[in-house]
Amino acid sequence: MTFKLKFPLSLNARLTLLILLMSLGMAIVLIFTGYKIYRVNTENRYIDRGWRAAAAAAALLSGEEAEVYLNTLSADARYQEVMKTLRVLLESGDIDSLYIIRYVPEGSSFIFDADTESPLPMGYLDPWKEGFPEEDKPSLLEGREVSPRIYDTNLVGQVLTVHYPLRYRDGRVAPGFYAGADFSVESLRREWRQYFWNLAIISLVVSMIFAFIHWFIVRRMVINPIGTMAAAVREYLAGDVIEGGIRPNISGLTRLSIHTGDDLERLAESLKNMENKTWDFIQSLNEAKRKAAIDALTQLHNRETFYNNVSVFLLHNRVPGHIHAYMMMDIDHFKLINDTFGHSAGDDILKRCALALSRIFRRSDEVARMGGDEFTIFCPNVGTEELVKQKADQIKETFSKIKPHPDSPGITTSAGIVMLSDEPIAYEELFGRADTVLYQVKMSGRNGYKIVSLADF
Ligand code: GH3
Ligand code: MG
Repeated sequence: MTFKLKFPLSLNARLTLLILLMSLGMAIVLIFTGYKIYRVNTENRYIDRGWRAAAAAAALLSGEEAEVYLNTLSADARYQEVMKTLRVLLESGDIDSLYIIRYVPEGSSFIFDADTESPLPMGYLDPWKEGFPEEDKPSLLEGREVSPRIYDTNLVGQVLTVHYPLRYRDGRVAPGFYAGADFSVESLRREWRQYFWNLAIISLVVSMIFAFIHWFIVRRMVINPIGTMAAAVREYLAGDVIEGGIRPNISGLTRLSIHTGDDLERLAESLKNMENKTWDFIQSLNEAKRKAAIDALTQLHNRETFYNNVSVFLLHNRVPGHIHAYMMMDIDHFKLINDTFGHSAGDDILKRCALALSRIFRRSDEVARMGGDEFTIFCPNVGTEELVKQKADQIKETFSKIKPHPDSPGITTSAGIVMLSDEPIAYEELFGRADTVLYQVKMSGRNGYKIVSLADF
């Protein structure tokens, strides 16, 4: 299940929010459960106090004139007094047991009927209430044995009143009587409020402390490692990896170090491995690109690379007024070398010629093998035609020392050279012109070169 928020939030913010909400929820559950338990306990405590006071009062007042209604027993001293009396009475052994009928004037508590075992609404049975049927009084108040448990759980009145029929050891049943004790519901409520706020503050503070600890742990174990990995991946992706082909030694992935000992550590390791794999891929890609761009035998640029570079130059990089030279060169009677000394000797000659050419020309010149025994050179911004002549002579001179065998004559070539400047011309056309000039040189006996200006065509 995924949660998508409409507004963007960082992982840190999301988890912090989640932890806060969970802690707050826990605090609320804690507050209300604690409060509920406290309420029940205090209620019971209050009831118990009233109950005991009433019982004490009953004991105190037991005797010939037993039927007494004691309205209140709020004073502590009086409570102590009746407790003392009760103890004396119980210790004297006069009282065997107490059977109690309870009465709560506010009416929402119950009397427990001994016959039916069911609680009855006391309000109706309040014998002191106006309208209580006179004939019902004796039957309710005399001789009913009711369990001395408390049946009310609601504190609705301030007076807890009990009726005590007493039975002595000799079996005599004394007339019942009522005793009561009052307690202040307001003070109880004040106590509840006080407790609620104390509980709320303590629970909130404790839950916030736990939230902080939780957040701290989650941050260390989850947020920080993921953040580090995300930053490393971003850094990695921002690098000029593919185009540059240079291993990014600043790559965050290479330096990634996560030691959580869990899935995140394994994820970080996988990212590192992925980086290595990508690097291997880049390496092989670059190798493949390099191979595709050069001629395998001579290591010079091949026809495609030459075409690409020269076309781009012709279209975009020409400086007005500058002179450039396009040279097409073919070894003379190369077939003869192959036939005489073998194909591998021919290969060797091609390699040596290529090496010589790359030494003669500048790095900025484009030297390529077009195929077979044919080489092409493009010299951008060559300066003067004179310089081109010098280069052509230098080739003649150098190639004359390249021999398939020490006793055989050196290599000769034929070259067609086209000089150009600002003329708008496509590569293919230029190629065609140079080829024509080369053909002319071949036709006129080989071992030479011819320089033609593009404007002369
Ligand atoms: P020409 O003076 O007219 O150029 O005569 P040529 O014998 O050089 O003939 P041409 O340039 O048409 O033929 C070039 C020959 O080069 C054809 C082929 O047998 C040979 N050749 C082509 N590629 C290679 C290669 O990679 N290695 C070797 N050893 N020979 C090759
Ligand atoms: Mg040839």
